[in-house]
Amino acid sequence: MSDVARFPNATPQYYLGRLDAIRRLREELAATPTLALAGNALEGVGLPACVKSGNDAADKIAADLGFAVEKSGR
Ligand SMILES: Cc1cc2nc3c(=O)[nH]c(=O)nc-3n(C[C@H](O)[C@H](O)[C@H](O)COP(=O)(O)OP(=O)(O)OC[C@H]3O[C@@H](n4cnc5c(N)ncnc54)[C@H](O)[C@@H]3O)c2cc1C
Repeated sequence: MSDVARFPNATPQYYLGRLDAIRRLREELAATPTLALAGNALEGVGLPACVKSGNDAADKIAADLGFAVEKSGR
């Protein structure tokens, strides 16, 4: 007996030039405080990269709101 579970479109398919596009998007978003990007479509699909992008996004929003952001050893 077998069981197949499919996750359609669950993993982004990176394309050439993606990093430049993300850099431009971040530059445009710099004009919009308290808005940040996170997730597997950005700098990596693995969980460590996703956690880092979430932490970085939270730090950006906290800093935009005027909170002192302490970087722990993460
Ligand atoms: C089957 C599978 C196995 C994997 N195994 C591994 C592994 O072993 N190790 C590893 O490092 N990585 C693994 N990955 C990759 C990793 O799990 C994902 O890249 C990562 O979880 C993506 O995190 P994310 O926060 O970007 O997206 P998600 O974890 O998909 O989070 C997005 C969230 O947004 C919510 N959401 C979506 N649309 C809306 C909306 N309109 N409004 C509100 N909420 C919304 C969703 O419900 C979801 O909770 C695996 C991925 C898959 C699919």
